[in-house]
Amino acid sequence: MSNNLDDRLTAFKEAAISLIGEAHVLTGLDAAPFEIDFWKQYAGKAAFVLRPATTAEVSGIVELAAHHRIALVPQGGNTGLVNGGIPDGSGHEVVLSLQRMNHIRSIDSAGDYITVEAGVILADVQKAAESADRLFPLALGAEGSCRIGGNIATNAGGVNVLRYGMTRELVLGLEVVLANGNILDLLKPLRKDNTGYDLKHLFIGSEGTLGIVTAATLRLVAPARERVTMWLAIETPEAAVHLFRQLRGVFGDLISSFELVSSYGVEAACTHLPGVRRPVSDPHPWHVLIELAWTFTEGLRERAEAVVATLFEEGRVIDGAIAETEAQRAMMWRIREGQSEATSKIGYVVRSDVTVAIVDIPLLIERCEAFTRKFGPDVVVLPFGHIGDGNLHMNFVVPRERAALLAPPLFDNLFSEVDRLQGSISAEHGVGRAKRDAIISRKPAAAMTLMRDLKSMLDPNGILNPDVVVSAPIKER
Ligand SMILES: Cc1cc2nc3c(=O)[nH]c(=O)nc-3n(C[C@H](O)[C@H](O)[C@H](O)COP(=O)(O)OP(=O)(O)OC[C@H]3O[C@@H](n4cnc5c(N)ncnc54)[C@H](O)[C@@H]3O)c2cc1C
Repeated sequence: MSNNLDDRLTAFKEAAISLIGEAHVLTGLDAAPFEIDFWKQYAGKAAFVLRPATTAEVSGIVELAAHHRIALVPQGGNTGLVNGGIPDGSGHEVVLSLQRMNHIRSIDSAGDYITVEAGVILADVQKAAESADRLFPLALGAEGSCRIGGNIATNAGGVNVLRYGMTRELVLGLEVVLANGNILDLLKPLRKDNTGYDLKHLFIGSEGTLGIVTAATLRLVAPARERVTMWLAIETPEAAVHLFRQLRGVFGDLISSFELVSSYGVEAACTHLPGVRRPVSDPHPWHVLIELAWTFTEGLRERAEAVVATLFEEGRVIDGAIAETEAQRAMMWRIREGQSEATSKIGYVVRSDVTVAIVDIPLLIERCEAFTRKFGPDVVVLPFGHIGDGNLHMNFVVPRERAALLAPPLFDNLFSEVDRLQGSISAEHGVGRAKRDAIISRKPAAAMTLMRDLKSMLDPNGILNPDVVVSAPIKER
C-alpha cells in the first residue's frame, strides 16, 4: 500500500467502483449537496461520495477503507446540526451515504416493532407504522428528510421525548458494520435480553464514529387516536414552568409535547413564513404549545377544555386556543417548527441546543437575555423548544456581516451560563465537529478517557468520522 494519500484514494475509488458501480460513486457537482449542511452555514470538500445499496456493500466499502486508510464520513439525510455528517475541507474524506438503503424489511403489530434499513426517511417509518395501526413516536422538524440511521447515530430527540423518550429508547435492535467491515447483527426484536453488555447502546448517539448503522428494529406504540393541541399565551417563562408542573399533575404521560415559543419567534414566523397566522389575536410575550394524546377516540378534548377553563379563571394563561381542525393544529406546529427558517430571513442564525433542569429554564433565559444585550441592539436571543424536557434551542439572530465575529463569544457566554446551572451544552443535536472541543473540559476526565479508549478499540485505524466527537486521526501503517 502506498504512503501517498492521493494514490490510496485513487486505489480505494477504483475498488469501490468495482464493488458498487460507477453510477453510485459521485464527484464534482453531483457530490456538492453532500458537502454542505442543511442551513448552508458549513461546507467541506469530499474526495467523492459513495452510495451503497446493501449491508454487504457497506461492509465491503468499510473493509476497503480500512485497508487503504481512508476516512469515511457516514451520512443519512444530512440534516444534522453539528456538522458531523459533512466532510472536512481537505478533500481527502469520503462521504458514505446510506440513502439508497431505504427498504422497510418487516413490520409486526403483535410484537410492536418494525425493522428498517438505515436510509429510510423518518416520515416513511411513521407512515409504515400508521398503516399497521401503530405509532412510531419519533417526530422532529426535519422528519421529511432525516434518515433513521442518522436519527440513531445522533440519538435524536424531537417533540415527543417527554412521553416516549429519545431515539435510544425506541431502538430494540441494530445492525452495524464495524470499522473492519465485519457485520454485527444485533437486530433481534427482543424486549428482554440480559446476556451481557447491551452493545447496541454503544452505537446509538455515537455519530458515526464507532460503526455504520445499516438497519434497526424499532419499537412501535399504540396509535394516538385523539389528539388535543393547545396554544396558550403566558407572561413569563416562569409561568410556562408552573403550567408544566400543573398539567403534568393532571394529564401525566398523556402530554406528549410541551414547547415554548417567544413573542419574537411568533412574530417572525407570521411575518416571514407564507400563510402563517398567529393562533391568538394579539401578540403576547410567551406561548406554550401543548399536545395531549391517547388511544381512545373521544373524551380527551372535553377534559382539556375543562382544565384550560380553570387556567383562565386562575389567571395562569392570558389567551389561548385549542385546535379545532387538523389545519389549525398544523399552523400551530408550523410556527413552532418554523422558528429557525423564519429568523433566517432576518439575519444569520447562530444555532445552539442546550439543557438545564426544567426549573432553571427561566433563569437561563434571563441570563442569556442579559449577556445578549451587551452585544448591541441588533443581536437578539431566540429561546424556543422542548421545555418539558429541560431542552432549549438557544439561537441568536445576528447581522450577517458580523456573524463570524459574534458566534464564538455568544457560544462562550451561553456555555458558561449552562455550566453555572450544571446543564449540558448538547441536549439532542450531539457533538459533531461543532462542539467537539467544547466538551473536553466539561465532561469528567475519566469519561473523556473512556470515550477515547472506546474509539481506539472499535476503530483502531481511525477511519470512521475521525474529526467528530473525539479527535482520532487516521493511523498510518
Ligand atoms: C429543521 C430541523 C429540525 C430539527 N429538529 C430536531 C429535533 O427536534 N430534535 C433533534 O434531535 N434533532 C433535530 N434536528 C437535527 C437532525 O434532524 C437530527 O440530528 C437527525 O437525527 C439527523 O438525521 P440525518 O439522517 O439527517 O443525519 P445526518 O445529518 O446525515 O448525520 C448526522 C450524524 O450521524 C452520522 N450518521 C448518519 N447516518 C449514519 C449511519 N447510518 N451510521 C452511522 N452514522 C451515521 C453522521 O456521520 C453524522 O455524524 C433538526 C434538524 C433540522 C434541519
